[in-house]
Amino acid sequence: MKIVGEKDVLYLKEDLVAYECDGYTMTKGTPKAVVFVKNTEQVSQIVKYLNSVKVPYIARGAGTGLSGGATPLGGEVIISLVRMKKLLHLDLENRKAVVEPGYVNLKLTQSISDKGYYYAPDPSSQYACTIGGNVAENAGGAHCLKYGVTTNHILGLEVVLPNGDIIQLGEEGIPDRPGYDLLGLLTGSEGTLGIVTKITVKVLKNPEGKKTVLAYYDDINDASQAVSDIISAGIIPAALEMMDSTAIEGVEAAAFPVGHPKDIAAFLLIEVDGIAAGIDDQIEEILTVCKNNNVREVKVAKDEAERALWWANRKTGFGAMGAISPDYLVQDGVIPRTRLPEVLAKIGEVSKKYGLRIANIFHAGDGNLHPLVLFDARVPGESERASKAGSECLKVCADAGGSITGEHGVGIEKSAEMRFIFTDEEIESQTNIRSVFNPEDLLNPGKLFPQPGRCAEIKQELKKAEAQ
Ligand SMILES: Cc1cc2nc3c(=O)[nH]c(=O)nc-3n(C[C@H](O)[C@H](O)[C@H](O)COP(=O)(O)OP(=O)(O)OC[C@H]3O[C@@H](n4cnc5c(N)ncnc54)[C@H](O)[C@@H]3O)c2cc1C
Repeated sequence: MKIVGEKDVLYLKEDLVAYECDGYTMTKGTPKAVVFVKNTEQVSQIVKYLNSVKVPYIARGAGTGLSGGATPLGGEVIISLVRMKKLLHLDLENRKAVVEPGYVNLKLTQSISDKGYYYAPDPSSQYACTIGGNVAENAGGAHCLKYGVTTNHILGLEVVLPNGDIIQLGEEGIPDRPGYDLLGLLTGSEGTLGIVTKITVKVLKNPEGKKTVLAYYDDINDASQAVSDIISAGIIPAALEMMDSTAIEGVEAAAFPVGHPKDIAAFLLIEVDGIAAGIDDQIEEILTVCKNNNVREVKVAKDEAERALWWANRKTGFGAMGAISPDYLVQDGVIPRTRLPEVLAKIGEVSKKYGLRIANIFHAGDGNLHPLVLFDARVPGESERASKAGSECLKVCADAGGSITGEHGVGIEKSAEMRFIFTDEEIESQTNIRSVFNPEDLLNPGKLFPQPGRCAEIKQELKKAEAQ
């Protein structure tokens, strides 16, 4: 309290409830306190103090994470960055902006769009999540297919290390800095190597033209094939999204219904952007690919209002599951695009095995799947079944040559599943790096890497499943 003042610390039980978890609600823990910081110096002083008393701590942005990264396991101090929310500097001539970590993603685009610029990484949570949280999770989004994920847009970071030292990574105007790529290492490190206190990002010029297509399919395999065919035709859309019938049922019952036909198996939402002159040719090619793959109906958004509605319908897709299920678990696997039909069939088998519906929303263009396991936590045993079903979906992705996370991170949720894709030696090489930065494991302990107990349990379950 001496560092930040009494009104910037929460410690009463009733105040701490809101900080027991992030958007992944299956695991909860009570923090010791929540401290709201206003500047880098305060972060550094608090970290030094917590080190001296050996109390663990966690950085937290908006708490929209979906893997438990900002969730305390019990007794940590949460350092909340949400009041460090200034746009510090705009340099449009050199196409960059400097923000504090609590700056909300969407605000950046909103504050520069009238000048003809935008910030490309657009997680569907962009109206709430912070750029600090995006850096920690290396967040993606619908438009990352063409423009790349957060790491491709970060030019520099200021970081408070777990010993309280403040360092600057990356530097304005110096390309190809020699030495290790610490900027790359910190981005996506899920708040385990340091606390980000300032971020320099690239901003892009608004594309000259943009067109959006909606394609309805009777067979999900045809939709999947169209995705592959669009990319192999050499077209890189700005976004190439897909939803299956269960997901469509959810979005149509929620806040932004589009009026999608009720009986389709899937739709594709495809957006192309760039130099105005080339857009119509690309759209023609896409329409041809869709037709060659037995599309039932395909249409181009007639105006900006229609385009915005299609995107609102897609971007609120996770929350919309609340309209058809009391609870849902968001998964986040990656697969090679060409394996989509086979992986979807296997996810269907997982759904049957556990007796739980699974809706699928995907960034299909880059093979990033979000199976959403629908369940009712009030039914005894259903939460556990949902967790197991989610884990098996990730195993299906890993076995197809993919990964256990595309953008939501590992956090608590998928730490055991790291074994699906890494050997013990590979995990150790990563935990060794964490130990260099975070030797006492006081910063965000118990996250990202397997904890021995749960791992052994998961391995046993897998063996059993294989034997069946
Ligand atoms: C409806 C919904 C849709 C979503 N859609 C997407 C999507 O399309 N793409 C996507 O990538 N994600 C998506 N997410 C997940 C989430 O929004 C992102 O992971 C986001 O980057 C988290 O930001 P946050 O500010 O909420 O971070 P938090 O949840 O507060 O924290 C996330 C992690 O970052 C660490 N952290 C936070 N701030 C800092 C900091 N300053 N320094 C160091 N570590 C820090 C925390 O310790 C934690 O480990 C979605 C979430 C929801 C609820």
